[in-house]
Amino acid sequence: TRHLVWFRQDLRVYDNTALWHACLDPEADVIALFCATPQQWRLHDMAPVRERFLWRNLTALKERLGELNIPLVVKHCQTFEDCVQDVPTLCEALGVTNLYANCEYPVNEQKRDRAIREALADKVSCHWHHDFGIKPLGLLTKTGNPYTVFSPFKRAWIERWRADPAPIYPAPEPRRCSAAVPGSELLASDKQAMDQFWPAGEDAAMNRLAHFCEDRIDHYKAKRDLPAEPGTSELSPYLAAGVISPRVCLDAAIRANRGDIHEGRQGPDTWISELIWRDFYIHILDTYPRVSMNRCFRVEGEKIPWRNAPEDFAAWCEGRTGYPIVDAAMRQLVQTGWMHNRLRMLVAMFLTKQLLIDWREGERFFMQHLIDGDLGANNGGWQWAASTGTDAAPYFRIFNPITQSQKFDASGAFIRRFVPELRELSDKDIHMPAPLMRQSLASAYPEPVVELKFARERALAAFKSV
Ligand code: FAD
Repeated sequence: TRHLVWFRQDLRVYDNTALWHACLDPEADVIALFCATPQQWRLHDMAPVRERFLWRNLTALKERLGELNIPLVVKHCQTFEDCVQDVPTLCEALGVTNLYANCEYPVNEQKRDRAIREALADKVSCHWHHDFGIKPLGLLTKTGNPYTVFSPFKRAWIERWRADPAPIYPAPEPRRCSAAVPGSELLASDKQAMDQFWPAGEDAAMNRLAHFCEDRIDHYKAKRDLPAEPGTSELSPYLAAGVISPRVCLDAAIRANRGDIHEGRQGPDTWISELIWRDFYIHILDTYPRVSMNRCFRVEGEKIPWRNAPEDFAAWCEGRTGYPIVDAAMRQLVQTGWMHNRLRMLVAMFLTKQLLIDWREGERFFMQHLIDGDLGANNGGWQWAASTGTDAAPYFRIFNPITQSQKFDASGAFIRRFVPELRELSDKDIHMPAPLMRQSLASAYPEPVVELKFARERALAAFKSV
C-alpha cells in the first residue's frame, strides 16, 4: 500500500494528525505532497511575506520528512481547479492507495476537497482529519444550534475539553526506506531583512513557545495590550501556516497554569482564551460559509452606507491619517508584515467607524500584508470592529485613537519606533493630531484626515440608519 499525505496549512511533523495516521501501518510506503497554487494565492490576497514564509517552512519540512524517509513531492499547479485535475493524476502515476489530509475550512478549499474526493472515489480511499483547531468542530448549544457568541462557546469548549482532551501525536518513527519519487523543485525566494524575525521550521516555533511560556506568559494579561512591549507570543505566523500545532501550544500553557486549563492564574488563562478565540473563528468559518464569501455575518450589516473615499483609504493604508498611533500601526504592518492585536482592533475600528469605509477593504489590505493572514481570524477581527460580526463590538462603542494611544502607548515608545518624524515630541504631545501638537516639527506630519467628534456622529448616524 502507498499512502500520500497532502500537506496544506500543517507544515510540520510533530502532532500532525493526517501524517500520524498515514504512518500507522509500518508496511506502507509514505509519500508527502504539497501543491503550490500561486494564482489561487493571488486571488486569496496572500501577502508576499506570507508566501516567502511558506516556502521557507516547506524547505524545513522537506528536511524533517527526509529524516523520516518520507519524500516530498511538490506539484506546481496554478489554481484549486488544477489541483482537482493534478492530484488524482498524481495518485494514479504513483500508485497511491490512500490519501491523508487535514481539513481546511474556507469555502473554496472545501469545494476543492469535495471535488477531489469525488474524482478519487473507488480508486483511492481518502482520510480527512480535523487538525487546524484544537478541538474538532461540531459544538452545539443545548437547543442544538451552532454557537454565535464567544463566552458560551468557550464554556462549552472547556467542558468538552475536560471530558475529552485532544491527543498530541508525536512525530512518526522513520520509515524503513524511502519510496522512489520524481525530484521536486522548491522555490527559493530572495532573503529579505524581515525574514530574520520569523525563522522557519518547527524547532524555531517550539523555541518561541518555550521562551514565551518561561518568560512572558505569567505577565501576558498585564502586557498583552502594550504594543511597545514584547508581551505576546508572536506565534501567529507559525499557527497560521501550521508550523506548530495549537494543541501543543495549549499543552504548554496548561503546564504553565499548574496543570489546569482554567485555574484562574491570569496570564496563562488569558492566553488560553486567545487560543479558544482561534477555534471559535474556525468554527464560524466552517458553519457560516457566507463569511468567506465577502458577506457580513449579520445580514443587516449589508445595508450600512459605507463611504467611497479612496483618498482617505490611501491615507490609512500608507500610515498618514494624522493620528500618530494609527499611522505607527499601519507602518508596522507594511514594514514588518505583522501588527500587534490592540492596534489591529484600533486601526480596524478607525477605518470602519471614523472613516466609515467598508470593512472588506481593510480585510483585504490586511491579507495582502500580513505574514499570519488567516481568513477565519482576519474576517472575525474585521467584522468585530465593523459591528457586523458574531460577537461584534456594539456600533456605538467607538475607540478614540487619542485616548487608546495615551492608555496603551503612554510613553509614545511605539509611535516613536514607526513615526520617526514625531520622535522629538514630548510624551504628552506625541498622541495628538497635528493641530494639537505644540512643537513646530509637527508641521512635517500630515493634518488629521478627519475630526473625531464629527466622525463619531457621522458613524452613529450611518449605523442607526440600519
Ligand atoms: P498571542 O496574543 O500570543 O495569541 C496566541 C495565538 O492565539 C495567536 O498567535 C493567534 O493564533 C491566536 N489568537 C489571538 N488572538 C486571536 C483572535 N482575536 N482571533 C483569533 N485568533 C487569535 N490573527 C491571525 O492569526 N491572522 C489574522 O489574519 C488576523 N487578523 C486580525 C485582524 C483584526 C482586525 C484583528 C482585530 C485581529 C486579527 N487577528 C489575526 C488576531 C490577533 O490580532 C493575532 O492573532 C495576534 O495579534 C497575533 O499575535 P500573537 O501571536 O503574539 O498573539
